[in-house]
Amino acid sequence: MEYFTMNKSTSSLINVWTQPDPEEIGHSIDEFLSRLKQPTIIQLSGLDDSRTRVISTLLHGNEPSGLYAVFNWLKSGKQPAVNTVFFVGAVTAALEHPRFFYRHLPDERDLNRCFKEPFDDYPGHVAKSFLDFLKEEQPECLIDIHNTSGSGPAFAVSICNDLAHQTLVSHFVDRLIVTNLRLGSLMELSEQDVPTITVECGGTQDEQAHLLAIESVDRFLSLDDVFQYSATDRELEILYNPVRIELKPDATIAYNMAPVDGVDITLPLNIEHLNFGVVDTDIQLGWLGERGIDCFQVVSHEGKDISQELLRVEGNQLFPKQPVKAFMITTNPIIAKSDCLFYAVTCQG
Ligand SMILES: [Zn+2]
Repeated sequence: MEYFTMNKSTSSLINVWTQPDPEEIGHSIDEFLSRLKQPTIIQLSGLDDSRTRVISTLLHGNEPSGLYAVFNWLKSGKQPAVNTVFFVGAVTAALEHPRFFYRHLPDERDLNRCFKEPFDDYPGHVAKSFLDFLKEEQPECLIDIHNTSGSGPAFAVSICNDLAHQTLVSHFVDRLIVTNLRLGSLMELSEQDVPTITVECGGTQDEQAHLLAIESVDRFLSLDDVFQYSATDRELEILYNPVRIELKPDATIAYNMAPVDGVDITLPLNIEHLNFGVVDTDIQLGWLGERGIDCFQVVSHEGKDISQELLRVEGNQLFPKQPVKAFMITTNPIIAKSDCLFYAVTCQG
């Protein structure tokens, strides 16, 4: 059976599926994923067909909350308030056994780092095709739905902090991180006049995270005007310019409740409980090996290494040197090594 039609603006790397029937998408997100096979754009016509919104998800193959939301919307058979495009990105990584395990395939780049040049490999081509599609479509906004690798409260990330972005965020969560980091992620589309936010729904395994995605997408797509504050809008907590606490490429890491011999850094298994709380200078983060703080690289926005300004070691114990708020703390050593341990913002006052 042929489900897909091709659109001239996308290469053969991205399938385009127009107005799928609720019966066609399968009975579970597993079946749904199997039918997608590769990166897919799903187009729905809205009650108002003069405007388009985009919801993208699964740019990381192990972050399923947004896919639950897409599946739920399609199953409902409802018509959205305006034209809606769903983009499901890292389908091949999610399909790899065991399903929803790989953020990206081991021999490929992270798709959500590929939305800038060079576009010279498979995820780069997928990113470029989708950017070309968006250029043609000119959506009024884009919401990119993710999960954090550790559990913790939901939040949004944006490179812009104007009223339009804040209002978009308020439909999903009550915490916004404004960053000037540029990594080649899809939310950098804000630079091209498409208000874009990333929503981090909470942990990948978290039932609550799936529910948040399902309920907020359902509400969002039913609204006629998503740029208007309503009575239900939340007070936003806004945090500025996080830095990435990264490990040097040759550093070793373990998660354990006591220091592990011969390892550069040991973090306690329950470290994700620190997510979004204030971590004061007397709260221990973990244990360091013989290299001490030298196993970290923490690069400021000016390109300076600020590990020594942010972290201190006492004996073998690691503490923050100034109070910080930490978030996206991971307990997955692969992500800790390949991406970062956590993000931190310094607390003023
Ligand atoms: Zn992600």
